[in-house]
Amino acid sequence: VVTSPTVGVVPRSVLAERRRLFAALSDAFDVTFEGREPGDWSGLAAAVVVNGADDREPDVPTLAIAASETWTSGGTVTFSDSHHVDRRLRGRTLVEDAARLRTVVDGNERGVVLAYGDRGPIWLRAPDPPLRHVACSLPRELGEDESLRDRLKTGQFVDALPLIQFLREIGAGNGAVSPPLRAAFILDDPNLHWHTYGYVDYTALARHAREHQYHVSIATVPLDAWFVNRRVAEIFRRERDVLSLSIHGNSHLRQELGRDMSANKRYATAAKALQRVRSLERRTGIPVSRVMVAPHETCSPAMMSALAATGFEALCFAWRVRRTPQHPLAGFRIADVVAGGLPLIPRHRMSNLDDELVFRAFLDQPLVFGGHHYDLADEMSLVADVATAVNALGDVRWLPLDEVVRRNYRLRSSAGLAEVELFSRRVRLEVPEGVDRLKTSLSALDDESSAERVLVRGSGGAHEVGLGEELRVTEGQTLDLVLERADLEVTTIVQPRTTIWPVVRRAAVEARDRSTPALARLRRRLRPPA
Ligand SMILES: [Zn+2]
Repeated sequence: VVTSPTVGVVPRSVLAERRRLFAALSDAFDVTFEGREPGDWSGLAAAVVVNGADDREPDVPTLAIAASETWTSGGTVTFSDSHHVDRRLRGRTLVEDAARLRTVVDGNERGVVLAYGDRGPIWLRAPDPPLRHVACSLPRELGEDESLRDRLKTGQFVDALPLIQFLREIGAGNGAVSPPLRAAFILDDPNLHWHTYGYVDYTALARHAREHQYHVSIATVPLDAWFVNRRVAEIFRRERDVLSLSIHGNSHLRQELGRDMSANKRYATAAKALQRVRSLERRTGIPVSRVMVAPHETCSPAMMSALAATGFEALCFAWRVRRTPQHPLAGFRIADVVAGGLPLIPRHRMSNLDDELVFRAFLDQPLVFGGHHYDLADEMSLVADVATAVNALGDVRWLPLDEVVRRNYRLRSSAGLAEVELFSRRVRLEVPEGVDRLKTSLSALDDESSAERVLVRGSGGAHEVGLGEELRVTEGQTLDLVLERADLEVTTIVQPRTTIWPVVRRAAVEARDRSTPALARLRRRLRPPA
């Protein structure tokens, strides 16, 4: 069993003033914080020391907070090229809005500069052991409606970043493996009736995706899946590494996933979408990611639960769910798991690219961008720009959405036991060297997940275990871990009779989308010459 190290917070008052903040950090990094007075170093694995005297620092890894009186009100923060800077931040310049962006004490402090503000170094690290970081501030306490993520976002990161990096470094010894950078574009609404849809031309899109190194998931409406053009099916089969499919609602009605409805209706909606998609797969041989891309960005918590129960692996949603009290780790971990076991994959509008991308990458979160066919206007330059920005973050894997979420786990191993923290309903992993036992946990924002069982499939057959139960495994073995809800009798779902309404409405929307480029061309032609 991996024990959590004790980190001293000095002086004691620093911890007392930030109970919620340090509780969140303790959860996220599996460390225990203890308030201490200077000199009381017994039993500490590391320490965070605020305004300490130079000669009275503990002989353990330390984050020293030592600000000078030199400051600017906000400005830019530039990370150095040092290999001690996280790969995703290295060499970048980000905008910080802090009221006081202070430099670290001038003169006395030595070390490798990790970041500069407009007036000088704001973050240093000792070049040799023991580990010692020097930064200029600590994050302030979290409010009830705030999470740790509110201290690490566009315009506000300079207080939290050194602390998070420090906690990562002291935990790095426990064999932790984080997921690789993974990304995808999602285009809402297109179907496979024809080789174009609005500004989308599947052949041109696939060529462009290869050239600019990205992947696009077409979030298609299950209602539209009744027909697939034979040539379009060929394109999707041939280009599967750059083009894939995901699920956009069921009939694309307004509030389809968001409105109040009976449990039966919720399950019926989810099941119907899956049935339509399975039929498309059977007829065409094109796999469809079991990821729901919510139409109109709405989905009720009860519907989220129905999605998890019926076999959806994730829900793709605009940014994140706000609530009070906010979970202190909302938006901070690999994914927010809600409604008793459904991961939310937040997506960013591709037209609003900002530093948020960098923070998501830093937190090992999927980099998913949503848009519509009209975002491909201007010869797809917007998509090319976003792909370039993402690919500059490091070694990025562009994948279909199901493969993106199947890497949503963190693994750490010690003494033959691998602990897998799941942020997904389904993951695929290789059992690390020296590991012969494995157990899983689900890190959810709520605790409705007691009904989950884990189905483990590998070359040795399939087993079912509970969350937290140990299972014997073989090193090098590839395993699929699938969460199964024990609380649903799928056979009880009654499909209501099909109504003509959704069919009619979809036809109207499609007619509008298909005519957009023609209308734009027409408008351009009608515009008087400049
Ligand atoms: Zn839509």
